[in-house]
Amino acid sequence: MSKVPSLILNNGVSMPQLGFGVWQVPDDEAASAVGTALEAGYRSVDTAAVYENERGTGQAIASSGIPREELFVTTKLWNSEQGHDSTLRAFDASLERLGLDYVDLYLVHWPVPALDAYVDTYKAFEKILADGRARAIGVSNFLPEHLERLIDATSVVPAVNQIELHPQLAQADSRAFHARHEIATEAWSPLGQGKGLLEVPAVAAIARKHGRSPAQVVLRWHLQLGNVVIPKSVTPSRIRENIDVFDFELDAEDMAAFAALDEGKRLGPDPAEFDVR
Ligand code: NAD
Repeated sequence: MSKVPSLILNNGVSMPQLGFGVWQVPDDEAASAVGTALEAGYRSVDTAAVYENERGTGQAIASSGIPREELFVTTKLWNSEQGHDSTLRAFDASLERLGLDYVDLYLVHWPVPALDAYVDTYKAFEKILADGRARAIGVSNFLPEHLERLIDATSVVPAVNQIELHPQLAQADSRAFHARHEIATEAWSPLGQGKGLLEVPAVAAIARKHGRSPAQVVLRWHLQLGNVVIPKSVTPSRIRENIDVFDFELDAEDMAAFAALDEGKRLGPDPAEFDVR
């Protein structure tokens, strides 16, 4: 079966350390892409209501024949649905589109500080968790200041914070905060969206040294730091390449070369400001 190791979350649930991300995969292509990923051995899929591909993702799950308990399905609450009752309704709609009766992980997609509703939203997440309809709950794009407030105001410490993280944005402060609070760090855009990062000479050199692709050595860097990763691709050969990363290791010199690439470079929005609803 899957050779992907798992992390144990702070509530005892185990989560594969590598999963398949489906942002920007159209709904009618999601079934095929997720199907290819499941055949390649992925057992974790990361979608979101706003990706508008929960239906295609659910179809791939249903037709895979893989027992539900072997899969780890994450979806996220979109900003426009924040608030206690609207969260409960949005969660029902996500489950319906996925064709599932529970998810493994439900995330608040963005803190949207200007909205000031993430505490009420998360209280609805606590109810969903207590009802057994999500096995774990967490957040995404939360800065330490947002997590501090959430932890003070609610009773379930988020199991996961999914944040933009790649070698050019290594997020040392967030990772240290998460470690102190037993929150797993999940990296979005782990490959830097496949743009400049994979062509950086130092990355190419590490790849050559190991006889691997740049994407594979970047994924190794994440795994060796303890991050959960969810690389996205719709190209079958890359989908397979991105999970074929468990039979080699970077050494201290490689890890140091990666550390030197950190320049605090965000590809996505600043969570303190982001307010699209
Ligand atoms: P990514 O870093 O996974 O890069 C994906 C791109 O890299 C692909 O479109 C392709 O162009 C390229 N690529 C993939 N595999 C490759 C390979 N082996 N060789 C060369 N190029 C390759 O970027 P992403 O899709 O932005 O992030 C991954 C997942 O993270 C998303 O699909 C989504 O599930 C999640 N995400 C979450 C948030 C959030 O706000 N929570 C935001 C963005 C992404």
